[in-house]
Amino acid sequence: MKTKKIILLGIFIGIVNFSKAGIIRVVTTTQDTKSITEFIGGNKVDVFGIATGYQNPHFVDPKPSYIIKLSNADLFVTLGLDLEAGWSPSLLASSKNKKIQKGSDGYVDASVGIKLMQVPSAINRAEGDIHIFGNPHYWLDPDNGKQIAKNICSGLIRISPENKSFFEANLKSFDDKIDLKMKEWLVKMAPYKGTQVIAYHNEWCYFETHFGLKIIDFLEPKPGIPPSPSQLVKVIGEVNTNKIKVIISSPYFTTSSAEMVGKQTGAKPVILATSVGAFDSVKTYFDLFDYNITKLTEALK
Ligand SMILES: [Zn+2]
Repeated sequence: MKTKKIILLGIFIGIVNFSKAGIIRVVTTTQDTKSITEFIGGNKVDVFGIATGYQNPHFVDPKPSYIIKLSNADLFVTLGLDLEAGWSPSLLASSKNKKIQKGSDGYVDASVGIKLMQVPSAINRAEGDIHIFGNPHYWLDPDNGKQIAKNICSGLIRISPENKSFFEANLKSFDDKIDLKMKEWLVKMAPYKGTQVIAYHNEWCYFETHFGLKIIDFLEPKPGIPPSPSQLVKVIGEVNTNKIKVIISSPYFTTSSAEMVGKQTGAKPVILATSVGAFDSVKTYFDLFDYNITKLTEALK
């Protein structure tokens, strides 16, 4: 009887190990790349995204639990440039997982092949600029989402070549869905082409370019430097002169500066989702644009 139980337990553990062995464990730095990886990887992947959707991806507190996740990962996806430079490389090094270090098959830099905007001619970090390799908020253009998906797909194929056709089919349906939704998003944004707005942080240039908005200034005097009184005075002047109706902010910034400018000028602060998970209804990469375009068009009406 006892032997039978042990045999059954052995079979059970065997099954559990087998099913786990078939799943590709992925760690992404953000929820956006998590969403895209889940779309491409389907039931072949188990994805953990480090930064929550309402956290500033430039500043994430490294936790020991992230290192454990990375130690057990088969694939690591970073948005790259200097977006996560303050926290992700040290976590990766601490994981000591050779499979996912830079240059390994299990390392995906999602920025490969992205047409970068605002690439500075001279590196000057001393002034507090945290976009030293170009603007890293490129996932906020859905067309770039297709390139991110392509990079993730290539990474998945590298470590799981037997599932190549499965991942490629999912990539195709991801691209098709972006193309389909893009028509809808562009139609909604069309009446606001050329509309001037103010933003808190310089993270909307890809979105702005694709959807025809014009961000004329930021509450932050430089990316990563909190709004200063002199910058706010300058912005108030610009809002009044150009009759600007909307100040775009993000869930991780304090609302006081945008509200102050709003009170002085009548412009409306609007908190948009910069990542999947920023708000309860933003569950996927597609929801991100549905949410932002709905919020923006309501505010600009
Ligand atoms: Zn930034």
